[in-house]
Amino acid sequence: MAKRALVTGAGGFIGHHLTKYLVDKGYWVRGVDIKPPEYETSPSHEFELLDLRRFDNCLIATREVDEVYHLAADMGGIGYITASHAGIARNSSMINLHTLEASRLNGIERFLFSSSACIYPQYLQKSPKVTSLKEEDAYPAEPEEGYGTEKLFMEELCKYYYQDYNFETRIVRFHNVYGLLGTYEGGKEKAPAAICRKVALSPDGAEVEVWGDGEQTRSFMYIDDCVEGIYRIMHSDYSHPLNLGTDELATVNELVDLVAEVAGKHITKRHDLSKPQGVRGRNSDNTRLRRVLGWEPQIPLKGGLLLTYRWIESELRAAGRVPEPAREVSRRT
Ligand code: NAD
Repeated sequence: MAKRALVTGAGGFIGHHLTKYLVDKGYWVRGVDIKPPEYETSPSHEFELLDLRRFDNCLIATREVDEVYHLAADMGGIGYITASHAGIARNSSMINLHTLEASRLNGIERFLFSSSACIYPQYLQKSPKVTSLKEEDAYPAEPEEGYGTEKLFMEELCKYYYQDYNFETRIVRFHNVYGLLGTYEGGKEKAPAAICRKVALSPDGAEVEVWGDGEQTRSFMYIDDCVEGIYRIMHSDYSHPLNLGTDELATVNELVDLVAEVAGKHITKRHDLSKPQGVRGRNSDNTRLRRVLGWEPQIPLKGGLLLTYRWIESELRAAGRVPEPAREVSRRT
């Protein structure tokens, strides 16, 4: 019989891609969110609109499934997560506490929690020339305010559920995921999507706004690697936190240059130092991931950006915001 999975946050970026991945693998999937996916219909067998801050809704969402992939969160890019610590921490805490307990009460076999690289101490991320972050670097703790603090607490709670109830929890720390069908405007978008949008909307030779001085560094993981990694971690026997990201470090300036290159445009950068830029540098150390899974994300940044840029450009073109490419007119003389 097909395995039955719940994907929470199935209307969101990673949740939607994961739903497709699990359906393709032969799973029966229930998607739950407060909104449907933005750009495509969900391929889930059941899609329920439920607010998971409410415990009764969590009991409904987690009924009669074997595995819970818990991705729902109040979440956005750096501008969004630095703007409302109280709201984000409160909403995600309620979602997390209730989904975890409802999963246990409903006898779920395995529960995967989507944590974040934002749990890592800020004191280790003050230079763009970073030492890659290992899982054990999380303590002594100084996470990103609000969003990261809440994620770190939920990681601990997953650990307690494992210890006290023998409840099989998995903890994944994502490092900057990007790709097709992700939000690219409105305030919740992250750097790769925002840069693709800005470059797509700019004519050749134009100036593009970059948040901060652009020397902040990150690693970026393409969505296909992300869902593959989630599945592998869920089915591993490893219950401690694991990084899931690439270790291909890039500055935000380099990210802009790569996007301009795949777009075939010349771009000048205008740095806005008043905008939030997050920690100065962050990279994933994949030593433990490789040891546990014998696998790590594979897709190079340039290849992933090419696909992402093309999709965002086509969306903007369909909305009439990017002109059709000029056609070569062949003339007969
Ligand atoms: P997303 O915002 O696209 O998806 C999250 C989904 O949760 C949204 O569709 C949202 O509507 C839903 N949600 C919010 N409140 C809810 C509620 N009360 N009840 C039910 N659903 C609710 O974000 P994403 O990028 O797909 O991220 C998925 C998970 O991965 C999140 O937990 C996020 O914190 C984590 N994460 C993502 C990244 C990244 O780069 N995308 C990095 C680190 C961690």
